[in-house]
Amino acid sequence: MAFPQSFIDELVARNPIEDVVGQYVSLRRAGANMFGLCPFHGEKTASFSVAPDKGIYYCFGCHKGGGVINFQMEVEGLSYPDAVRALAKRAGMSVPEDEQYQSRYRQQERLWALHKEAARFFHSQLYAPVGKQALDYALGRGMSKSILTTFGVGYAPDGWDNMIRAMKAKGYTDRELIDSGLVTQSQKDKTKIFDRFRDRLMFPIIDVRGNVIGFGGRIIKKDSEAAKYLNSPETLIFNKRKNLFGLNLAKKSKQGFLILVEGNVDVVALHQFGFDNAIASLGTSLTEEQAALMTRYADQIVLIYDGDKAGQNATQRAIPILEKAGLHVKVLQIEGAKDPDEFLHKYGADRFKLLLEGSANRVEYQLNAIALKYDTRQDDQKVKFLQESADLIATLGSAVQREVYAGRVAEKAKISLDAMKLEVDRAFKRRTNKEKKQQEKIDLSPARNLQPKSRNIRYDNMKSAMAEEGIIAQALRDPALLDKTGNLQDTAFSSELLGRVYKMLKQRHDQGLEVSLAVLEDLNQDEMSHMVGVLQRHDGPVNEQAFADCVATVRAEHQAASVNSEDDLLTFRNRLQQRKGMKE
Ligand code: ATP
Ligand code: MN
Repeated sequence: MAFPQSFIDELVARNPIEDVVGQYVSLRRAGANMFGLCPFHGEKTASFSVAPDKGIYYCFGCHKGGGVINFQMEVEGLSYPDAVRALAKRAGMSVPEDEQYQSRYRQQERLWALHKEAARFFHSQLYAPVGKQALDYALGRGMSKSILTTFGVGYAPDGWDNMIRAMKAKGYTDRELIDSGLVTQSQKDKTKIFDRFRDRLMFPIIDVRGNVIGFGGRIIKKDSEAAKYLNSPETLIFNKRKNLFGLNLAKKSKQGFLILVEGNVDVVALHQFGFDNAIASLGTSLTEEQAALMTRYADQIVLIYDGDKAGQNATQRAIPILEKAGLHVKVLQIEGAKDPDEFLHKYGADRFKLLLEGSANRVEYQLNAIALKYDTRQDDQKVKFLQESADLIATLGSAVQREVYAGRVAEKAKISLDAMKLEVDRAFKRRTNKEKKQQEKIDLSPARNLQPKSRNIRYDNMKSAMAEEGIIAQALRDPALLDKTGNLQDTAFSSELLGRVYKMLKQRHDQGLEVSLAVLEDLNQDEMSHMVGVLQRHDGPVNEQAFADCVATVRAEHQAASVNSEDDLLTFRNRLQQRKGMKE
């Protein structure tokens, strides 16, 4: 990245990690470190740690970690340059001009402006003569004119270049149109472009800052062969995994919770009927990024997916993602209509409100789902129902909760509370035993335990990797050790990442710069988390002998590996003989 290293060093120095983290997490000192509740995953015991002297944070629960810049990125969902900018502002520093960032930002600004123009164009077409059929369709589905304006709904006319011509008249180039994803390039001749969206009702997708970043286009003809929806592709400004339809409006809601539905049309209908906190994911199943985004505006989510099988499956998948992000989840089962949109038009807002108030928490919902599978009038099915319910209740952390739900199930199946409690206890013990065994297995298999948590980083040579970790961890504690590497090269490292980090640290040390993880710029979030974990793991004493042992191990493993890979024992023997010769 194009910020000068000296600027980053000063930025990190002037933003003490405990101060920056302290703005989000209340920290308690314990020895050299500080602890608090992790802001990145829901937890009740403090496994989030900050080491002020090392300038890093690490969560023992979710394994996230890094320096102050990583923290800023992670906690505010910012890109690297934006996090740097925020920290510079906090410390009252001015940011040196950054060419790459500036040009990328300018490009983004052009695309935002283009999308805004395109949205205006589509909206105007809805009220032009060509848009009559589309407008009739929208009104026919019960959308009011005022809600069409609120959402900026529009119409992309049939034809190959209506939008292209309108945007060119505004000064946008072919290149910009291609980058926007609003046009398609011809396969045969890439210079030929045509409108991606044709004869569709257009829903602008707007991010939380109010920028139009993409579109979802719905067909309006009943018997069309085309896919019901066509969405913008991924572009410089649009990532469908990181945005939510309607959040630009829902974030202003005073409701204090969000309603998550499946379809754009459902969001529009809910807002029209006064539920201004409705949002939808963008045609993909719910992602962790989207859940994290929601936590910035609410701590409770009511999930209302379509009543069909697909909707119910999506619900079961979404629950753990939302809960993992720390959100309190309730689930509303739509009955008597296929989706919220149909329900509202059929039964009205008041009925929907009643439904909303009675929406079950996720355990009730899942218990219901189990009950629906079995006919409890038959004994064998009743037993299965009880066992499966007990398994579910056993997942609850609180004894009070377990008792409450055991009571409900007992009542439903008409058995005694004591019998049900016994069943839940048994399931609970089975579960904890299983967890214990799993933990033991992990503890007993060191290789698996030491393998990086992130799937993008793997150790191919565990023995060498452990020594490489040792070198880096010790060098970070006592940089003077970097004078004692005996010309060890990063290419001798078995792990690309560890080699890269070693090289950066060594270079900084040789230049007389501060040696710490927090100032390393070239690591991505996963890599930084992993490196902080390495530092935490190797928390033992630092000494020259231990360091030299690690260096020797890396050398030996590297040599063995090169022999294997070259498969050239002769060279190896010659080399050995040469060395012996030199000694004599
Ligand atoms: P309607 O009520 O008119 O059917 P909807 O918006 O409720 O419209 P759903 O069929 O429920 O649409 O689909 C939910 C969402 O999934 C849509 O809003 C859209 O974002 C996405 N989606 C649906 N079909 C497709 C498709 N073929 N390609 C891409 N995304 C799609
Ligand atoms: Mn629908």
